[in-house]
Amino acid sequence: MTEVSFREIYRMILTVAAYKGGVGKTTSAVHLAGILQQKAPTLLIDADENRSALGWAGRGELPFKVVGEQQGPRFAREHTHIVIDTAARPEAQDMKELVEGCDEIILPCTPDALSLDATMLTVEALKKIKGARYRVLLTICPPLPNRDAEEARKTLEEQKLPIFKHQIRRLVAFQRAALAGQMAYQVNDPRAAQAWADYVAVGREITG
Ligand code: ADP
Repeated sequence: MTEVSFREIYRMILTVAAYKGGVGKTTSAVHLAGILQQKAPTLLIDADENRSALGWAGRGELPFKVVGEQQGPRFAREHTHIVIDTAARPEAQDMKELVEGCDEIILPCTPDALSLDATMLTVEALKKIKGARYRVLLTICPPLPNRDAEEARKTLEEQKLPIFKHQIRRLVAFQRAALAGQMAYQVNDPRAAQAWADYVAVGREITG
């Protein structure tokens, strides 16, 4: 059996974490859950106290189930894949629990100094934990000629941080999706398909 088919069949637990707000964490959790749902039943657990994913689901209809942290264990068994939307707290014990509870931690990061600093802080904490698997995802990337995303990628690479090859563009379709309680591909926006395609590309990097 190849590693790809192994990953296709078996349960995948992803945690999307960010120490700083507004970096596209919930947007990433929702869309990555949408990608996994296309393969097998997926549960999105909203473990962030802002309850943004639950709010998103409540405004419309998402193609997968979203539950709060308390309900997670009850529903987890009925689903093949799990995505956890959580705030990262770089205290050692919290990080250890994050690492032990999932296959991979996705760290969304916007291309600006504050988000980069927060991401590096989180990675410093993760580095201390044996077996931690994590990757940084650049999100809300402005279009060229703006070079912020390029520079942020360079900075992250110089620090030898694992980073997704693909990144998420800054597109209004994502805001519309959040407002309507939908996935980006469902919204009435000329760039809806492009928005969805960005997460599809990242999803491929995760599932192989
Ligand atoms: P977090 O969970 O990190 O606080 P959100 O996913 O809630 O971040 O996103 C914060 C804001 O940015 C929301 O208004 C959301 O619609 C918007 N947003 C997220 N990702 C994108 C994107 N790729 N392009 C444009 N706007 C985005």
